[in-house]
Amino acid sequence: MTYAEKVMENLKEKYSYQPVFLQAVQEVLQSLTPILEKNGIYEKNRILERITEPERAISFRVDWVDDKGEIQVNRGYRIQYNSAIGPYKGGLRLHPSVNPGILKFLGFEQIFKNSLTGLPIGGAKGGSDFDPKGKSDMEVMRFCQAFMTELYRHIGPTIDVPAGDIGVGGREIGYLYGQYKRITTRYEGVLTGKNLLFGGSLARTEATGFGVVYFAQAMLADRKETLAGKDCVVSGAGNVAIYCCQKLLEIGAKPVTVCDSRGMIHDPNGINVKVLKQVKEVERASLTRYAELVPSAHYTPVADYPNGRNAVWSVPCFAAFPCATQNELNKADAEALLANGCKCVAEGANMPSTLDAVHEFVKSGIAYGPAKAANAGGVATSQLEMEQNASMQIWDFDTVDAKLKRIMENIYANAAATATEFGQPGNLVMGANIAGFRKVADAMIAQGV
Ligand code: NDP
Repeated sequence: MTYAEKVMENLKEKYSYQPVFLQAVQEVLQSLTPILEKNGIYEKNRILERITEPERAISFRVDWVDDKGEIQVNRGYRIQYNSAIGPYKGGLRLHPSVNPGILKFLGFEQIFKNSLTGLPIGGAKGGSDFDPKGKSDMEVMRFCQAFMTELYRHIGPTIDVPAGDIGVGGREIGYLYGQYKRITTRYEGVLTGKNLLFGGSLARTEATGFGVVYFAQAMLADRKETLAGKDCVVSGAGNVAIYCCQKLLEIGAKPVTVCDSRGMIHDPNGINVKVLKQVKEVERASLTRYAELVPSAHYTPVADYPNGRNAVWSVPCFAAFPCATQNELNKADAEALLANGCKCVAEGANMPSTLDAVHEFVKSGIAYGPAKAANAGGVATSQLEMEQNASMQIWDFDTVDAKLKRIMENIYANAAATATEFGQPGNLVMGANIAGFRKVADAMIAQGV
């Protein structure tokens, strides 16, 4: 049994009740074998045992009062996973499915993603099982204030800098920031994704969606291909999906689908981003509303999905951008995409493909950009927001966007070069995992036990 297999067996025994965490670890560990075998120093320092355990996991009660005056109780978390190369950094997720296992998977991924950006940021993740859907603005505000009333003591601009994720956008970050400032009396860059009026960075809202398209362009440029004029499928209809569609349109590609948890839109004329923003960012409505406003759009509710599988993946396309959530694309979906001639998959969501779907993509030799590389544009731009806050500067949109594009191209180049160095050219799963791991592991060794 290899070192990685031994560690994996141990984790499976210890955390059998956290399947998505185990899935994320397995994906990383199985691609680290070449570097672990080449250099015994990682096993000697027990790096895998250490890097898979969070440095600190905080769990707390969040009491708040709803609009009827009744007391509600939620669970809040912050997993401070690894600070070897910089302050903890990672989003906050508000969704009923949030539990320590989900946050450990996301925090673990974040370590390698942040390392790949080339910027000095450690890995973390947090959130709550609070469901913002159907809540009034005032309820969301009271929840965010209650959440920050505990969280503030654990974070700081050089300690831990949270950002948004599913269910946490500009509105929630504003309420969280207001409460941090009220309690601490400090006006500092403790959260990213802030409103432009109080320290936010231009292009942060767009960053993850734009970044995933820049990553796809970099992969394709190496293969003398381009997205221009090509049909693309996108899943999700939130922050990442919206700006992925916008960038695809800007470069002359055609996004033809989006979906939310209730159904999907197929529009052969191309997604109308203006309407999508109105429906999702302003009205916070379901995609049925999009179909009402755009006559060429066809809406399929989840109940009518063939075999219960997301119908997005059966739409023929040149490139696919999963931008909704984890495990939204399985082996059958990967097979359907490949059978329909898909040549590029770039992941906007975190771990959207199951392990066997990833295997199909890697085996097929298409341009496959795994999440921790392809969606790193969001956290990278968050770090650019931290830089602007620390130096009291405001950069214009084009400056931030140009830095984002360069970072995405560098991540691709680093992952591709590392895959070649370890004998599997084109395997960006291996390249991204080894490149992300090496920097953090070497920093941990240098810092001692
Ligand atoms: P949002 O909450 O803005 O949007 C999520 C979207 O995905 C919503 O449209 C949601 O629909 C949809 N969705 C969620 N679950 C499902 C499902 N099971 N089936 C179909 N659709 C679903 O989140 P983000 O766009 O910010 O995040 C999306 C993904 O990208 C997540 O995996 C996140 O971790 C990742 N990510 C986000 C970054 C960021 O900067 N925001 C950075 C890096 C990664 P509904 O509204 O109906 O629930």
